[in-house]
Amino acid sequence: MSYKAEYIWIDGTEPSPLLRSKTKIIADGTTDLPIWGFDGSSTNQAPGANSDCVLRPVFSCPDPIRGGDDILVLCEVLLPDMTPHPTNTRAACKEVADKYADQESWYGIEQEYTLFEADSRQPLGFPEGGFPEPQGPYYCGVGANLIFGREISEIHASACMEAGLEIAGTNAEVMPGQWEFQIGPLGPVEVADHLWMARWLLHRVAEDFEVVVSIEPKPVQGDWNGAGCHTNFSTKAMRESYQPIIDACEALGKNIQEHISNYGADNDKRLTGLHETQRIDQFSYGVSDRGASIRIPWQVEVDQKGYLEDRRPASNMDPYVVTRLITNTVCSA
Ligand code: ADP
Ligand code: MN
Ligand code: MN
Ligand code: MN
Repeated sequence: MSYKAEYIWIDGTEPSPLLRSKTKIIADGTTDLPIWGFDGSSTNQAPGANSDCVLRPVFSCPDPIRGGDDILVLCEVLLPDMTPHPTNTRAACKEVADKYADQESWYGIEQEYTLFEADSRQPLGFPEGGFPEPQGPYYCGVGANLIFGREISEIHASACMEAGLEIAGTNAEVMPGQWEFQIGPLGPVEVADHLWMARWLLHRVAEDFEVVVSIEPKPVQGDWNGAGCHTNFSTKAMRESYQPIIDACEALGKNIQEHISNYGADNDKRLTGLHETQRIDQFSYGVSDRGASIRIPWQVEVDQKGYLEDRRPASNMDPYVVTRLITNTVCSA
């Protein structure tokens, strides 16, 4: 029987792209997923007079929303001459990943996000026109006075598992209505493919609850935690001994500007030196230090091997860009 394939791609909206998708009916017996196209003039990816953009499937998995034989298909965007579109950040990521494949980079990314009522400017758990009790009891909490949107987090995690995505866990975050899920560990391209797919599933699951997912890094001004995408990283050498972890921190410390300027729009509103962040204009690394740019987890120091956590990337970062930069900076050092 023929089946539905949801073709998903990343658009050209600035400063942070949106996910788009449309449905293709695939005939029974089709072996390779076909290339497809779309109107780039409706997605900030082309002028109206020359609007055709190309979708090339790069990763597919079962569709946990529709079920049955239906699938989700993540695509990269190409120009009609089949070269990468300027908004296609995956192509450059893949180049760097291939170049340093022998160092076996792994990534685990912690995606934080905030749930908003569709008809309101407030996160779930914020009373109309006001503020809830200050932060403290919400992180990893339980109870109807502390937790808002758990059903969405639960359904999303199950959907990721059914799709075969490498989801590692979930937790309620420090601000009411704020949540996290983790993807990985996986290679630089794979972790980003899975994260973009998981982001699409999150928006899609929340849609049925008339809830809007925000991955803005500072969704509520004031004394409320921002949202990040802590990026945990290791190479084979780092997983075997400690000095390569220090070397990686030092290498990142020598290439601060290129990283920070590509770690997500409005990240300056989040990296203030407060709320478990380092200031955007300072760089530091340390064991267990959640006020540092790079944290070496406590257990990693004990074991004298493992990974580091780059705490700087914002929740709206592009994982193809972040894993490309970290792989390039650390693996070329
Ligand atoms: P935190 O304590 O910062 O909240 P989390 O448990 O949320 O940490 O996330 C840690 C992430 O690190 C997970 O996604 C996990 O898969 C990933 N991870 C674990 N070991 C490694 C490793 N050696 N290399 C890269 N990522 C790793
Ligand atoms: Mn976490
Ligand atoms: Mn977190
Ligand atoms: Mn973290």
